[in-house]
Amino acid sequence: MADLTQDEASDRARTIEVKSYDILLDLTAEPVVSRTKVRFRWLRPDASTFAELRTQGVRGVTLDGVSLPPPQDGRLYLSRAGDADQAVLVAEAEAGFSLEGHGLSRFTDPADGASYLMAMCYPDCGPELFCCFDQPDLTATFRFAVRLPDGWECVANGQLARREGDVVTFMPVSGMRPYDMTFCAGPFPAAARTQAGGTEVTVRHRHSLLGQPAVASLPRFMSNARDAVAWYADNLGVPCPYPAYDIVFMPDLAAMALSVPGLMVVNERLLGRSAAGDQFGAMICAHEVAHLWFGCLVGPRWWDDVWLDEAIATYLSYAALAAISGVSESASWTGFAYTDKPRAYEADGLPSRQPVWSAVSTATQGRDKPYGILYVKGASVIRSLAALIGDDALRLGLNDYLSRFAFGSATLDDLVGCWSRASGQDLAGWADQWLRTEGATTILLDGDDAVVQDVPRRQRIGIGLYDLDRDGRLRRRSLMHAELDAERTVVGGLTSADAIVLNDQDLSYTRTGFDAGSLRVLTAAACQVGDPLSEAVCWNGFWLLVTGGELPALQFTDMACRRLQAGGLPESGVETLLSRAVEAADAWAPPGQRAGLREQIANATRTAAGDARKLAIGFAAAAQSDDQLALLGAWLAGKDLPDGVGIDAELRARILFTLAARGLAREEDIDALPRLDPVTGEVNRATCLAMRPELTAKEAAWAVSLSRSEPARIAQASAAGIWVPGQEELMAGYRDRYFTEALTALVGRKPWPKARLSRLVFPVTLVSEATIEAADAAVLADNVLRLAVAEQATIMRRRLAARRQR
Ligand SMILES: [Zn+2]
Repeated sequence: MADLTQDEASDRARTIEVKSYDILLDLTAEPVVSRTKVRFRWLRPDASTFAELRTQGVRGVTLDGVSLPPPQDGRLYLSRAGDADQAVLVAEAEAGFSLEGHGLSRFTDPADGASYLMAMCYPDCGPELFCCFDQPDLTATFRFAVRLPDGWECVANGQLARREGDVVTFMPVSGMRPYDMTFCAGPFPAAARTQAGGTEVTVRHRHSLLGQPAVASLPRFMSNARDAVAWYADNLGVPCPYPAYDIVFMPDLAAMALSVPGLMVVNERLLGRSAAGDQFGAMICAHEVAHLWFGCLVGPRWWDDVWLDEAIATYLSYAALAAISGVSESASWTGFAYTDKPRAYEADGLPSRQPVWSAVSTATQGRDKPYGILYVKGASVIRSLAALIGDDALRLGLNDYLSRFAFGSATLDDLVGCWSRASGQDLAGWADQWLRTEGATTILLDGDDAVVQDVPRRQRIGIGLYDLDRDGRLRRRSLMHAELDAERTVVGGLTSADAIVLNDQDLSYTRTGFDAGSLRVLTAAACQVGDPLSEAVCWNGFWLLVTGGELPALQFTDMACRRLQAGGLPESGVETLLSRAVEAADAWAPPGQRAGLREQIANATRTAAGDARKLAIGFAAAAQSDDQLALLGAWLAGKDLPDGVGIDAELRARILFTLAARGLAREEDIDALPRLDPVTGEVNRATCLAMRPELTAKEAAWAVSLSRSEPARIAQASAAGIWVPGQEELMAGYRDRYFTEALTALVGRKPWPKARLSRLVFPVTLVSEATIEAADAAVLADNVLRLAVAEQATIMRRRLAARRQR
């Protein structure tokens, strides 16, 4: 199908103005039938343009009552006839179901046989469902109606207006883009409701989850959403633009969550995380609610500016998280530093790296940008701007942006202009350095009075001076701030500290390097510096040393184990250190050290201080020796569990992953997963089956991963279990099959599943020159696949180098 170019989009925006869409979908028909009436206005005489329509079937199309030929390559060509500038385009079409969680999808609940339908048009599936002018800046008023089977309910962008027989009609929503069109329908039980100012918030989930432990966390999710709506309205000075905000949990969503005008769709996987009581669910909720303003009320003009939505929503969500979940803002940013920030540093050092903003000539290119750059680097850069111009100027600029561009679209220059006016500073040069240039700066001490940056950028950083006390613990003596701009900046007063931490408090997006003295002291202290946010900065700096081949994995694992014993880490810190320690053992250490390191990590969790459940999950992930594996077996049977820890869905799955990988999981335990956990049990079962050290298991998982007839969640779960460290011999034959079969099978798939599967199925455990050579030799026309392969080869090259260091 033709990929929309920026030139075509801007030409179309000069040719027509789209007024409204009236869409009726008949969900009782098989296939589903859509009838769309688009009202638009010609802006030029003798003009012609096209609309997109890529449905499975087309029953008929008319322009001003005159029949048109069917679409070619997904496009309906339209020409202005006569003087009248108003036009009406009507299309009746048949929409097919997708298994990839995009477009129109259907889920049949194995528990009760009930069906649920969902349409998610973001980012490019609108035309698979209805006729439209599919580009971000052609906003219009949408009126949506749907014919439903008996006993069904439907939620969509607008509020319910009326129900006549089996047809439900929604209130019109203005300022929508075609990709905003979203609905979920099925026999939902009654919704829970609450009020956030002028906005009614509701929460729904499938019927069979009623009374299940997984949905116990929903009242908290709903109150988080309510509080977030109120917090943004207050802090942005712009009320919530939508009178209703419906939240629906669905099993098959391609993303973790999605926010469109008036509606949030959340992947059910999140229920498992929220049930465990961690902050992840609250953070996702805060991010999605922010999209009601950034993404919905104001969207990007073109696909080069998707970062506007994602970076701002991510940045604001951490500030909102503090307000809605009662943690301090510093604790909230500590979570960001541990779990998100390393993803940006990693993405910014790979062949696929791109600036936060860069020109994209087609819609597809704009959507292929990595998460670490768009979301995390984008948010980090906004945080560093707040450190430069102050929180008040930052928020004032956002308020100006929302007021100027409400119900329309904007660009990077528009936003930077708002921040420039609010701060009284010309920020155009700042935007060039941070948003239009790729890569991260590394900062280092130079002598005892200066800080140097390898790529000079204007930034304001914290500098922490730490001394060892009598008990050998590090304590911060002072926290200074310095504004850097040039390559070398003289900063007075840096002398005589035992350790100096640059970018203390993580205000800026910059890679922290250590001087030799600080490195020695911080290693001995296992980064325990007495301030959680500063400590996260240190751990991120040390992890960059591991992945850069400058610190042996063995040394990192030892530090992490010592640090876990000392206690006092936040939950995100425990989780991150454990997962990095296991990754260090599995991927960055020489293979001969692997088993010993894993055993050491698992033992450390048994005596560590901290969240007992997170430690138990860490033990299950690292367990290696016969005794440790036997203990996992006992835990599974409900015996000998650590105090205060019960077997929940996540811990059970983690135990079974490790046992399955060693060929020790019992078939009945794996098969019981879907019954014991209706939300993630089915996908966890698929991963367990794939992890078993048998060729027949690998072959079956390989086929499921690449099959087009399996739901995306099952394909990805199977793929996630194929490559297990320690099974290299068994898997030797799959290296070539990746480069021949797998990559061929993924061409033509939707971008998100394609991006995920191409990484999951990559022969990541076969760390060798042969794999790197095969990756370098692969000739790939597909942009997503080429980037994925180049990126995996780069990471493998680093791992190989790290394994060889002494
Ligand atoms: Zn988002």
